[in-house]
Amino acid sequence: MVFTPAGNGKLPTKLAVDGEETHNTPTMAVNLKSRLTLMRRIPMPLLSIFIGLFCGLFVWLVLDLVQPQALRSIFAEELKVRLEQQARETLVRFSNTVAAHSSTTRLLANHRHLANYLRPLDWRADDVGPPRFYRKTPPWLPDASLWLSLVQPSHILLLDLQGHSREIYQVGDLPMPKEFSGANEPLSSEHRVLSSLTIFDRKPFLLISEVAEDAAGRIMGSLLLLVPLNEQFLISSQQGVTQSDVVVGLLEADDKHFLASSDEKRLPSGTRFDKAKLEYQIIAQSFFEYEGSAVNMQFATLVPDSIVEATRERVAEFDLQQRLVAAIAFVSVFTLVFFLLSERLNQILRRISVFSQRALGKRQPELKKGNQLFVLEDWIHQFIQGVRETRDEVRLQHESEIQESEALKRTLLETALDSIVTVDQGGEVIEFNNTAEQIFGYKRENVIGRDFSALMLDPESRPSFRRMLGRYLHQMEDLLGEERWEMTAVSFEGVAFPVEVAIKPIRLQTRVVFTVYMHDISNRRKAEQEIRSLAKFPEESPSPVLRVNRPGVIIYANPSSDPLLHYWGCERAQTLPLYWRNRVTEVLDSGSNWESQVSFDRRTYSLQLSPVVDLDYVNIYGRDISAERQAEQQAREHQQELVHVCRLSTMGEMATGLAHELNQPLSAIANYANGCVRRLQLSGQGSDDILHALAQVNTQADRAGEIIRRLRALIGKQAPVRTVADIGDVAREVCSFVEFEARKANVFIEQELGLNYLPVRLDVVQIEQVLLNLLRNALDALMEIPEDKRRLLIRAYCKNDDRVCVEVVDSGTGIDEEARGRLFEPFFTTKESGMGMGLVISKTIIEDHNGAITVECPEEGGTCFSVILPSYRDDDEQ
Ligand code: ADP
Repeated sequence: MVFTPAGNGKLPTKLAVDGEETHNTPTMAVNLKSRLTLMRRIPMPLLSIFIGLFCGLFVWLVLDLVQPQALRSIFAEELKVRLEQQARETLVRFSNTVAAHSSTTRLLANHRHLANYLRPLDWRADDVGPPRFYRKTPPWLPDASLWLSLVQPSHILLLDLQGHSREIYQVGDLPMPKEFSGANEPLSSEHRVLSSLTIFDRKPFLLISEVAEDAAGRIMGSLLLLVPLNEQFLISSQQGVTQSDVVVGLLEADDKHFLASSDEKRLPSGTRFDKAKLEYQIIAQSFFEYEGSAVNMQFATLVPDSIVEATRERVAEFDLQQRLVAAIAFVSVFTLVFFLLSERLNQILRRISVFSQRALGKRQPELKKGNQLFVLEDWIHQFIQGVRETRDEVRLQHESEIQESEALKRTLLETALDSIVTVDQGGEVIEFNNTAEQIFGYKRENVIGRDFSALMLDPESRPSFRRMLGRYLHQMEDLLGEERWEMTAVSFEGVAFPVEVAIKPIRLQTRVVFTVYMHDISNRRKAEQEIRSLAKFPEESPSPVLRVNRPGVIIYANPSSDPLLHYWGCERAQTLPLYWRNRVTEVLDSGSNWESQVSFDRRTYSLQLSPVVDLDYVNIYGRDISAERQAEQQAREHQQELVHVCRLSTMGEMATGLAHELNQPLSAIANYANGCVRRLQLSGQGSDDILHALAQVNTQADRAGEIIRRLRALIGKQAPVRTVADIGDVAREVCSFVEFEARKANVFIEQELGLNYLPVRLDVVQIEQVLLNLLRNALDALMEIPEDKRRLLIRAYCKNDDRVCVEVVDSGTGIDEEARGRLFEPFFTTKESGMGMGLVISKTIIEDHNGAITVECPEEGGTCFSVILPSYRDDDEQ
């Protein structure tokens, strides 16, 4: 996207170049536009540099115009002040030098050398002659070095009281001025004041006088020092301070020429003031201290114009530098400010672009180059235009939405399943929808403006409806939550029906209205009644029914569950014991039913836990199975009774054999006992025989006793007891029971027993009964075939890891197929004296031991019964 600045970025087709076109207004506009377009294309930083340079130049010119002049006046002022100050200083230094001369003069006048010198002299007034002239230093002066360093007089005079020169000493090279070299006229009083400036022979002099006394204290006259105010004096007066360029001089104020200067080469004595003024800045000052001076002499301080000019040039150069620095600083700061401004403008433009995108959905073209200010202006125009367009669009959209919303509202009202009535604050109907018309049987136009509650609610519901309206009216802010009330509505026909009422206040600009939603809840009421009656099922159930949630809390328990709850030690809404809580969780996780039993207080309950996975709870259906358990117990007892009876019957059948079996040991006992008696009667002979006989008695008696014990054990009625025993031992024991019968039938019972230890958890008596029954059936079958073919085998072996098998195999008649199908039916027998219960009971006993009994008839004849029992393992549950 390339940004095109306003004005389409087109250059004017023709530029105004001649006078005619210059006066042409449209051409001017085009020209201006082209310039503006050019301005738009120049980036802000570049523009800022141009403007900065232009402004810097302008500032330079203005400063150049104003500043030098101001500086010049300041310079002149300053120069004036400085010169005046300098002049004052030079004058002060001059005065100080004069004061130093005065002090020295006073010192000389008061010196004892002079007093001693004057003592013998006597200057009489009437004896005035020419003064004595010496070209030498006065002898009465102290050491010359002491004072000559202080004063540089040309002449020293001693005057009498009348002012006549009495002695004149020439100290320097300067000849005596004419005023003194002529007649010895008394010096005018002006020359005898303490210190005065005067001119002798057109040369300035400083006269310093002091009263002179002789050693006797007689005032002799005065000491007068004549000091030429020449170049040396002026130089020394300035103490070397103005050695450089400043010249001081003494000016004859009336005649306007210089009497002396500190630099005779540059400013010779006699130079005219006006001439000197051409080269020097001159400050002339009057002397006030030397009031005794008769001449109008002024002290002048001269500063060469060259120095002033050089200073001025330095100032101008400094001014130029300053201006240059100011202009550069101005351009830099201006450019920087503009640059920062342009960066800021860039940011603003980007934000405007983003804002425009968000607010108006129109992205401003990306800024590539050009002047940001103009771009900003364009964008603001575009943005305002966009805002206007968007506002119009939004207004249109809003209007169409309102229309749609109105249509929707109308449709909603018309198609709503509930009655919707709009009432005002007084409860009068404003709107009435189609459903309300159908349900209440009123026509809309007949109810508008009428009191809603009086018309459509039964008298009992009216007050509460009005209360609701009042509450909403006064606490509208607080009742934002939806509340529903059940009331009784009355239709046009006067039929009352239950409704659920909800009120929604609507705050309009001028008033508050309420929308009343009424939902006919007749059907719901009916359904609730049905649900309530359905809920009575578990309530009335004689069996416990409970509902428990995942954490094990009892949500529901019918009255029949009370014994269970009592047993668990918990109540409704409490949690189940830990064991049952864990079962509930397991059942919910597995999603399948789980059954268990609980017994307490001589009652047994079967409990089925059924998960309701969706709702995350478990239904517990209980059933009192105490009666069933009791019946089972009774059946078991009956069965044991039957087993016992069977055993008795078996024993009855075995009684003859048993009698014979018992008869043998008993007859042996009797024989042995008789033998012993006889031997004892033969007086103690054959004690070994007796001992042998007695041992036999003992053995036989044991044997008889053993037979009786076994019999008792078999016949005895005892509770079933499970013990672990070797099935081989049990089988061997049983063989011994039928040993006699086998012998009688001339059958030898082959035993393959005891090869391995085959432990089985069993009721020994019951398993013996089974094996005994099988062996006796085999013997019965063998009785039907010739003696030489009779074969009987009993063997025990390990069938596989967890099973053992005992087989009773005979070579008897075998069992035909039809009989084999009925073998285990009660009372099935082929024997005349048979009961047909032996195999039935055997099967019951074996299954009771979790085993199985099978029968096979090999092709070569005979029968094979197999008893399979679970092996006992050490880790089996005891
Ligand atoms: P009972 O011996 O009193 O008849 P059982 O239940 O012990 O009752 O036997 C049922 C029937 O099974 C017998 O009458 C007999 O016909 C048949 N039976 C049992 N064992 C054998 C066997 N080893 N050989 C042939 N038939 C047998």
